[in-house]
Amino acid sequence: MSQLDTPIEVEDSQTVITELTPQALYDKLMALARNLWWTWHPEVINLFRDLDPIRWRQLDHNPIALLREFTLERLATRAAEMVLHSRINYAHRRLKEYLNSKQVWAATNAGVLGAAPVAYFSAEFGIHESIQIYSGGLGVLSGDHIKSASGLGVPLVGVGLFYDQGYFKQHLDENGYQKEEYLDTKVEDLPMEPALTPGGEPVEVRIDTRNGTLLARVWLMRVGRVPLYLLDCDVEGNSPQDRKLTSRLYGGDERTRIRQELVLGVGGVRVLQALGIRPGVYHLNEGHSAFGPLEVVRQRMHDDGLGFDDALREVARQTVFTTHTPVPAGHDRFQGPLVEEHLGPLRESLGISYDQLMGLGRVEPQNHDEPFCMTVVGLRLSRRANAVSALHGHISRRMWAHLWPWRVEEEIPIGHITNGVHVPSWLAWQMRQLYDRHFPAGWIHRMGEPEVWQFIHQVDPGELWETHHALKNLLLSFVRRRVSRQCRRRAERDEVVEAARNVLNPNYLTIGFGRRFATYKRAALVFANEERLARLLNNPERPVQLIFAGKAHPKDEPGKHLIQRISNMRHDPRFQHRVVYLEDYDINVCRHMIQGVDVWLNNPRRPLEASGTSGQKVVLNGGLNMSILDGWWAEAYDGENGFAIGRGTSHVSDEITDARDAESLYQVLEHQVIPMFYERDVDGLPGRWIKRMMNSISTLAWRFSAHRMVMDYTRTMYVPAAGGLSCDMDLR
Ligand SMILES: *Cc1c(COP(=O)(O)O)cnc(C)c1O
Repeated sequence: MSQLDTPIEVEDSQTVITELTPQALYDKLMALARNLWWTWHPEVINLFRDLDPIRWRQLDHNPIALLREFTLERLATRAAEMVLHSRINYAHRRLKEYLNSKQVWAATNAGVLGAAPVAYFSAEFGIHESIQIYSGGLGVLSGDHIKSASGLGVPLVGVGLFYDQGYFKQHLDENGYQKEEYLDTKVEDLPMEPALTPGGEPVEVRIDTRNGTLLARVWLMRVGRVPLYLLDCDVEGNSPQDRKLTSRLYGGDERTRIRQELVLGVGGVRVLQALGIRPGVYHLNEGHSAFGPLEVVRQRMHDDGLGFDDALREVARQTVFTTHTPVPAGHDRFQGPLVEEHLGPLRESLGISYDQLMGLGRVEPQNHDEPFCMTVVGLRLSRRANAVSALHGHISRRMWAHLWPWRVEEEIPIGHITNGVHVPSWLAWQMRQLYDRHFPAGWIHRMGEPEVWQFIHQVDPGELWETHHALKNLLLSFVRRRVSRQCRRRAERDEVVEAARNVLNPNYLTIGFGRRFATYKRAALVFANEERLARLLNNPERPVQLIFAGKAHPKDEPGKHLIQRISNMRHDPRFQHRVVYLEDYDINVCRHMIQGVDVWLNNPRRPLEASGTSGQKVVLNGGLNMSILDGWWAEAYDGENGFAIGRGTSHVSDEITDARDAESLYQVLEHQVIPMFYERDVDGLPGRWIKRMMNSISTLAWRFSAHRMVMDYTRTMYVPAAGGLSCDMDLR
């Protein structure tokens, strides 16, 4: 039995057991907790919650940490009280069936990958709030990608880093200024174990640099059918400083960054080799892992006797690169000496000169003033590359046109696959019940198909509205709980804490804005004209309320000032009862927001939002998007399935663009969103609004699902890269 088959053999599942021994109870629950499959199965989440709802919440919904607090005795008592035995058996059986099922989409669509899987590299994976190895959208996208690969049965392994402190926890001080707190995670509380070689030894990789050797150990995490391997530099044998190298996401300076990227890319490829995995495809999700293919080249030269150029060509054929950043400054760049310090030994094994190596990372290989850019090397070492929305594809082709000076812009070989979200992870349980009642049986396995979602038009409008309202109420109670906790933490007066317990009104139009506070996202755009906004929000016939959340990067002072400005609106009588700011935006906060809002506001400065995915999560749950025509929304909006801010243009002057977009935002609110929301039919329902909710679900849910996205990657990138013949759109 290999390490990947082990976990869930607890009892003979043929015998029908309803009374489990305390030990068997514990083992089965632990087996469920140790495969992240549970994170997208509400019935299993509820099972864990029922063990101890209060601790469940306090422990960040971490089932291993929760179970570790139980004695066998107490577990048995609790399971009896809550009648959990058959639910545990049922869940356990479902997981087992899932892991053993051979009837998957990929069996008929990606056979070639069976023998040679995809290795998917990413610097962050956002799988669940209890596993803090993500900071934002990029990580959540990677998490959703591997969850859908698991669901579709695409043979794929993930490669990333284990950050024991992860990204920071955010809270605001009494002035509304962001404070960052880094917490140590306990490895024992996480669903990981040391990854083992075929011989049963723990994997350890070594990477030589000019000034010593970096060591990393490797953890295995199971995400459904997908194994995720995480490198961790906190090992004996590393210097004290290097032991902290993988502590934090995006912390530290350039040197930390290049060292982390060396571990991810080169280390990651070595991990696969040590595990005996021979990938057919290397997928680099963003430039952080783009050193990886150089190590693959070295292996091919060593194993197959190829020269550098031939090996490079072969490796590029197998490599897929996804770029996410439409701003030139957003791409990692390193100076020559730093590159030589870290890649020097590998460069020598490749038999290439310093100039040759640097040339791979430069737009103009001979330009000695140009630093080494991870996106450039990613593009040069892959034969298939893509952006993450149609508009971003267009921007990326223009931005990197100089790499192919002999080609016209339309022929620059960067395509696009628009991002999508993992439906079962983001779909509220209540909404899932509604879909289960009205959609064809087994629809959840076909969620990437448009036909399935047309059934939403047959749902009774009243039922859809009620379901949405139930979710909105859940969001409001979450907001009240969080806001009163925030007030207590700041040691505010009792009246303030008490007022927080009743903040917001479930009957008012509720608009959400949750995302990183990067300045291009313009969190404060809606406050461009405070008087005008105050009048809109406080209209007694048609009141409106706003919920904000989001972290600023620790070094982003302008971002922190935006947070401060918005959170301090609570001292302004005009906004006191209409605007709230939730601290510590993470997957959990995001999930509550996207499931309960009426409208999701997205107003980045076009074209800087490569795709954006939070609005796609809103669609699934019946919320409507009100967004600038940027990223995914530029190709999603059809006039009837949400609201558009602006006309999809921007001025060369940011100031003018911002003023225009703010004006359009107010116009859309005043003339479309607010009137439509408050327009009630004879039955008291907002008929036109509900129609728009249905349009949004039927036209967008399938298209912007991660299942559709992974099917696109598989058909147009993975299968051709692995040597399969179908759909080869190879342009180079
Ligand atoms: C979905 C998600 C994001 C992505 O948000 P966008 O700004 O729309 O790209 C970021 N952070 C978290 C926690 C998310 O769940």
